[in-house]
Amino acid sequence: MGRVSRGEQCSVEGCKNKAEHSVSYEEAKILESHGYKLRVQHNRVYLCKEHYRELKKLRKKTEKLEKWRRMG
Ligand SMILES: [Zn+2]
Repeated sequence: MGRVSRGEQCSVEGCKNKAEHSVSYEEAKILESHGYKLRVQHNRVYLCKEHYRELKKLRKKTEKLEKWRRMG
C-alpha cells in the first residue's frame, strides 16, 4: 500500500476529500460490495483517511467471516 504524494482526490464517488492512501483495485473492491462506487484509475484506487479506515474495517470484518466459514 502506498502513500499518495500528489494532490489526488479520493476515488469514492461523491467524496471530495484529498486522498492519503492508494491501494490496488483488488484490495478496494470490498468497498464496492458494501455500496461504495469507485472511480478506478489504472487499477489503482485512491482513498482519503476516512474511506481508508472504512476499508480496513470492512476487511477485518470479512476476514472474521471467512475464518468462521473455514471453521464451520
Ligand atoms: Zn473519501
